[in-house]
Amino acid sequence: MNQCHSEVLERQLKDVSHQMLELVQEQLRIVQELKLEPSEMQQLLDELAGLAGGRLEESYVRELFSVVLGIHAKAVKAKERKPLLVSRDHQREDTVIELGEVQLGGGKPVLVAGPCAVESYEQVRQVAAVLKAAGVTVLRGGAFKPRTSPYEFQGLGFDGLKILKEVAMEFGMKTISEIVHPAHVELAGEYIDVIQIGARNMQNFELLKAAGDVQTPVLLKRGLAATIDEFLHAAEYIVSRGNQQVMLIERGIRTYEKATRNTLDISAVPILKQESHLPVLVDVTHSTGRKEIMAPCAKAALAAGADGVMVEVHPNPAAALSDAAQQLDFEAFGRFYAEVKQSGLL
Ligand code: PEP
Ligand code: MN
Repeated sequence: MNQCHSEVLERQLKDVSHQMLELVQEQLRIVQELKLEPSEMQQLLDELAGLAGGRLEESYVRELFSVVLGIHAKAVKAKERKPLLVSRDHQREDTVIELGEVQLGGGKPVLVAGPCAVESYEQVRQVAAVLKAAGVTVLRGGAFKPRTSPYEFQGLGFDGLKILKEVAMEFGMKTISEIVHPAHVELAGEYIDVIQIGARNMQNFELLKAAGDVQTPVLLKRGLAATIDEFLHAAEYIVSRGNQQVMLIERGIRTYEKATRNTLDISAVPILKQESHLPVLVDVTHSTGRKEIMAPCAKAALAAGADGVMVEVHPNPAAALSDAAQQLDFEAFGRFYAEVKQSGLL
């Protein structure tokens, strides 16, 4: 091929491609306006394939147009998709949850502490006294315990919530406790300040809906094997029903690693903060299951932008009715708290 002929061909190729680009653009406009359904696209594809001839075989035409139309269909869907209510695209400013004078998501990180389970009035009172003296304002304690084995302590139920309420009133603290049944959500608001939805129930959609139908703040734990996207969609279930007071808490995910109880996904913190306007906390107890690394993990969480940290504290962990191996006694809590405080992050 001489130089002159190849230059002509190159110019023709450019011209034809430019024309195609304009046509594809026009095609996209029509597809968008028509909101072409997949069945209609298939019909068009069949029609075009039937017109194949010359240099173009039927399979060639089919493949070419299924790619082009497929990309158009994706663009139509993307245009129609509204941002999630929990997303930053929907709301730029941080959601701040107020529990009396305590603010979550307001820029000053909060420590949530307390026993794994409410075991007795005296046990909760002892923990609350120590925490209150240290300056902790939010008390946690499970009354409905979702245990792996049905033969293990299942919690005191509403009697446990009553204990929490009584002790919180005495010490002027706010409370968080897990609710596992949709029918208990409304009544729970009379006893506690924040309803926790546990990791095992992150995709219990009826529970999420029930939590969305009340105005009690909700602390939603990340599921054991939930992706960040699934986590945010679970939060969306609550917010879309009208309860905007939702906090997210990373509590470790299940991986092959056995050195820790779960794997603390620190990267989830800045991602959740970027993608969502909801407050983000980190549970250093259930994620690590190792007392000696809870303080560095709490510091890492706060350095990564967490709005709060949760840790379990028990007067006598060895005798605890749940999570005996990972709750801090008062001395260990004192050391934990001092170390995290000293970092200036809390
Ligand atoms: C809890 O915080 O009491 C608890 C059971 O944790 P998780 O749901 O994260 O396992
Ligand atoms: Mn626990």
